[in-house]
Amino acid sequence: MCAATPAAFFTRAVEMVPATEQALGRPRGMPPGWTPAAAAAAWSQAHPPSFSPAALGHTLDGDEHELRARLRAFLVARQPLFAPVYNAPLSRFRELALERLVAICRAGEGAAGPTTVGGDGRFLSVRDFAAGRASRVLAAHEISGLADGSMATKMTVQFNLFGGTVARLGTATHHDAGGAPGAGAFLDAIDSCQEVGCFALTEAAYGNNAVEMETTATFVGGPGRQPGWVIHTPRPAAAKLWITNGACHAGWAVVFAQLETGGRREGVHAFLVRIRDEGGRVLRGVSIEDMGVKMGTLAGGWLGGISVWEGVLLVETVRSAALAVVEVEGVCCTVVQLVD
Ligand SMILES: Cc1cc2nc3c(=O)[nH]c(=O)nc-3n(C[C@H](O)[C@H](O)[C@H](O)COP(=O)(O)OP(=O)(O)OC[C@H]3O[C@@H](n4cnc5c(N)ncnc54)[C@H](O)[C@@H]3O)c2cc1C
Repeated sequence: MCAATPAAFFTRAVEMVPATEQALGRPRGMPPGWTPAAAAAAWSQAHPPSFSPAALGHTLDGDEHELRARLRAFLVARQPLFAPVYNAPLSRFRELALERLVAICRAGEGAAGPTTVGGDGRFLSVRDFAAGRASRVLAAHEISGLADGSMATKMTVQFNLFGGTVARLGTATHHDAGGAPGAGAFLDAIDSCQEVGCFALTEAAYGNNAVEMETTATFVGGPGRQPGWVIHTPRPAAAKLWITNGACHAGWAVVFAQLETGGRREGVHAFLVRIRDEGGRVLRGVSIEDMGVKMGTLAGGWLGGISVWEGVLLVETVRSAALAVVEVEGVCCTVVQLVD
């Protein structure tokens, strides 16, 4: 915890809510000049803690202390971006969640080159998983969630579900797309949120029982045809639901489907699919429905709803053909190994 005393900690919290203070004004009966921060400081002075708040904070944080302190300071320094917002339309909450995530992702960018893990000034990177520094990603999530739970959910999808899958299961072909071999341009673009992705696993009819999903991925190719995979959702019940980042923002999706090749089913695999063009327009073959506010979410800033049940989705639509057409007949990566 970076706050040395409860007063300092509370002051920080108050600094993050100028909108509230402004909206509510001075409570009735309080003297002129009263502010929550001053009240907290006075209370703290009158009731000094019998323990070290800094030591307790350090213990509760557990790990990645330097990163946590830096991110907390960043959230406070970047006002009014991270100040709470109330009663805004859903569309505003969504944009705000993205703006906040982008700000966190781009802070420290280029300090020592985006490919350096740990020493580059970034708060988190999809490369942290392979580098044995997953704790960095988790700590960034914990601290970001203090400011905006919806933004933290977007962070989870961008770095864990989408980015983590591309990093872990993708090949150099995917990692380097859009740049020089070995440079990992696509991973950099995920880190900076230049490319935003979603994770399309859940189907309406199957939920937790994902291995039974109905969406298929069939290999197409042959003479004169560009090899690739056709993703097909056979009926509305197999539509991908609750897809965070799906209703807007995601240009890419890791789509899970039953791989079919040579008339045989080979189990559930993941495919990297371009779903929107650079201008944010949904690509042909993809159908997206907006599910609106998700029940139980505070600000409604979580983003739902990609549905590909309309028909087929050709991977030829991805930015780089090499991204989807890879070593083993276009298999992006094996995700689930079925055990009999
Ligand atoms: C905010 C939010 C964001 C989400 N974002 C994404 C996303 O980005 N991508 C994505 O793919 N999905 C996403 N989801 C979907 C989420 O992963 C699914 O809700 C989850 O997989 C569960 O599926 P279900 O809701 O159909 O529940 P079901 O599978 O229908 O389960 C309902 C209940 O039955 C229980 N149950 C199910 N099967 C069994 C069993 N065999 N034995 C005992 N109990 C069982 C479950 O524990 C649960 O309590 C999101 C959901 C939410 C709420």
